[in-house]
Amino acid sequence: MLTGRTAIITGSTSGIGLAIANALAEQGCNIVVNSFSDKTQDHAVAADLASRHGVEAVYIKGDMSKPDECRALVQQGIARFDTLDILVNNAGIQHVAPVDEFPVEKWDAIIAINLSSAFHTSAAAIPHMREAGWGRIVNIASAHGLRASPNKSAYVAAKHGVVGLTKTVALELAGKGVTCNAVCPGFVLTPLVETQIADRAREAGLDRETTIRDVILEKQPSKEFATVEQIGASVAFLCSDAAAQITGTTLSIDGGWTAQ
Ligand code: NAD
Repeated sequence: MLTGRTAIITGSTSGIGLAIANALAEQGCNIVVNSFSDKTQDHAVAADLASRHGVEAVYIKGDMSKPDECRALVQQGIARFDTLDILVNNAGIQHVAPVDEFPVEKWDAIIAINLSSAFHTSAAAIPHMREAGWGRIVNIASAHGLRASPNKSAYVAAKHGVVGLTKTVALELAGKGVTCNAVCPGFVLTPLVETQIADRAREAGLDRETTIRDVILEKQPSKEFATVEQIGASVAFLCSDAAAQITGTTLSIDGGWTAQ
């Protein structure tokens, strides 16, 4: 159980981040929900977590493309709960195009949100965790942190970078009660992937089912999506005492993709 602990999950108003927030709240953990939009429904996500799980949950706005806002998110979370035990770097975006046509602003945004934000939030959280002698940093990387696909240069580069950052942070904190690991999902059916399904179906002139089986899940041998609940449960495991000696590694949840 994680009763009395506090977690910040970046990009947690939808998809995988929300499922991770749910899984940690289910274990009794207080939650900081984050996105960059600050809409009524973002605050409602935190209120819903609190009422369903009997924990404290707050929404804190922060644009993870901006270094100052990454660090401020952590500082505000610590100020609100007086502690920060778990940091999950989940916020991420995707853009698909060949390298020579890849828009520079998309490259910069993907590197900032998918990679640099994890550096900034970790840098802000680590002194607190080190002093407390307990902490868990979980970075949501991807099968694309371990393997490449064409047309995803920024995403693949950022996710490989996240795996490298994970190993480095783990070594710097080894023996101090603080672990750092990366979760590497294959395809998970979330809004981020729904967009890719729609785009690829249109390009290939295929129906949704064929696009999912033959195009999207081409590299995923199970031919099944991982679920957001499976990702959430895996993060909760990495935050448990059973995982205290698991650090600096990747946990693939990819239906066999990276076994190939
Ligand atoms: P999603 O689009 O449902 O969620 C992304 C989240 O990031 C949203 O809550 C969004 O608000 C947030 N976000 C985006 N830009 C932000 C910003 N500038 N500041 C703060 N928050 C921001 O996507 P998802 O599929 O749930 O992806 C979550 C993570 O999982 C990402 O890092 C993604 O790369 C990774 N991932 C997803 C899959 C998949 O198949 N869905 C596979 C492997 C890894």
